[in-house]
Amino acid sequence: MARRKNKELLKFAEEIGGEEAIEVIKALEKKKEATDEEIAEMTGIRVNTVRKILYALYDNQLAEFRRVRDKDTGWYYYYWRLETKRLPEIIRARKMQELKRLKEMLEEETKEVYYHCGTPGHPRLTFDEAMEYEFRCPLCGEMLMQYDNSEIVKELQEKIKKLEKELGIKA
Ligand SMILES: [Zn+2]
Repeated sequence: MARRKNKELLKFAEEIGGEEAIEVIKALEKKKEATDEEIAEMTGIRVNTVRKILYALYDNQLAEFRRVRDKDTGWYYYYWRLETKRLPEIIRARKMQELKRLKEMLEEETKEVYYHCGTPGHPRLTFDEAMEYEFRCPLCGEMLMQYDNSEIVKELQEKIKKLEKELGIKA
């Protein structure tokens, strides 16, 4: 697998199941095909957790399994493998989703005027909310001042621009 693609797969895996998901993927890459118990043994992760991660990968169409019946015991064994054919598509869909979220955040930031007392951690209020509190901070009672969100707006705009470039979208 190409290095960049692999990096994105691992990043995605981390979002699904943290460090443990990364270990599961690495084990699968090494062994190509493995049962949940083999992966548990290879990684030292509990088999229940391995199974949960495998199903999460399967749900995201990043893993497939082959079911094999043991002739003697009649038990079924599941052999798992990574399926990365659809990875670029999946990553693109996720980035589109992130872009949508950022644009909504930007809209929220630019359509509202915010008020704040100046103490970090105290709530930022919209104009309507500030009115309700008679322009006093609900936590400390200090006067509320118009909050300069230009840094936040700039940051959001930059993130949006970067994502659009990655996605090949012209703004
Ligand atoms: Zn305050």
